[in-house]
Amino acid sequence: MNIPFIDLKTQYKEIKDEVQKGIDNVLEHGAYIMGPEITELEEKLADFCGVRHGVGCGSGTDALLMALMAFGVGPGDAIFTTPFTFMATAEAVALLGATPVFVDIDPKTYNMDPEDLRRKIAEVSDRRSELKPKGVIAVDLFGQPADYDRIAPLSKNHGLFLVVDAAQSFGATYKGRSVCSVGDIACTSFFPAKPLGCYGDGGMCFTNEPELDKLLRSVRIHGMGDNKYENVRLGINGRLDSIQAAVLLAKFAIFPGEIEKRQAVADRYNELLAGVADLTTPYVEEGNTSVWAQYSLLARDAEHREECMAKLSEAGIPTAIYYPKPLHLQKAFADLGYAVGDLPVCEGIGARIFSLPMHPYLEVEVQEHIASVLKG
Ligand SMILES: *Cc1c(COP(=O)(O)O)cnc(C)c1O
Repeated sequence: MNIPFIDLKTQYKEIKDEVQKGIDNVLEHGAYIMGPEITELEEKLADFCGVRHGVGCGSGTDALLMALMAFGVGPGDAIFTTPFTFMATAEAVALLGATPVFVDIDPKTYNMDPEDLRRKIAEVSDRRSELKPKGVIAVDLFGQPADYDRIAPLSKNHGLFLVVDAAQSFGATYKGRSVCSVGDIACTSFFPAKPLGCYGDGGMCFTNEPELDKLLRSVRIHGMGDNKYENVRLGINGRLDSIQAAVLLAKFAIFPGEIEKRQAVADRYNELLAGVADLTTPYVEEGNTSVWAQYSLLARDAEHREECMAKLSEAGIPTAIYYPKPLHLQKAFADLGYAVGDLPVCEGIGARIFSLPMHPYLEVEVQEHIASVLKG
């Protein structure tokens, strides 16, 4: 049995004709950059999220960078975020010369802990530091929304912007609303392995604010003003390709159905693995939905995790660890001066977590096989 971690081939079979048609169309009309597919996709996805504006861009990383640039982030600014995420979240902050301030995570959801956020904001505000609190980037890890009812008011009361890193959570809901409608700007990624992915790199920013929409569109194309050769600020080359937008339009047509399938796969894992000694199945906050970018289990300890992963590997079942090294302990951020033990919850979870194969086309028998290996 060849078990993929994420099965994009089965999905491709479902949408092959539509993808082909979409790509052919771009090749025929020739608007490879900023073609009509971009606007169509932006409108459709913004609609789906119940948000006024969508701004397509080159990747999830570009989406974060553009959002921070729209808020004028620069040296001296403190941006509060989680260390339990992909590099890009904090990298975008540091690329602009600003300082990521890492906030510990909730031990059940693995998302930013609002209590620690309150502490870290107070610390930066109080101490006679050169840093000025400027914004918050919350991450919806593994597809589950962060605690926005507590994070949003905290941000607002301190005059901080709130960016939602929805790279893993596009399609998830927070108390009935799309996660992309929750903050000032939400950023998502269309990297192939994300819940909604294209066949290359891609991303999008979402906002309800017309002024932010304008800034994002300007930053996306080298800080353009009224026309391409009028540059009113610094920006980047952050455009989404027309061909990738065409791919996404085809994939988006089956995306709502895929969200349901993902939920069914997660439910089945939960059932099959309920009560297995020393393994904690994922916890999703009541009232919210996850899109299950990952299905992650918590082992008893690092040694137990190693045993579980070895057993699965011997049975030909791929697993992965997100994330083996938290960002505050990465060499790239060594100059921030963090040490082991500074963010204990994140470090503890990081030593125990691992993820199982997860995608909408995972079959019952395969899931049963995976569960039996884990139980054996
Ligand atoms: C994937 C990811 C990104 C970056 O997206 P790219 O499209 O790969 O640039 C940012 N943040 C999180 C949480 C991610 O998972």
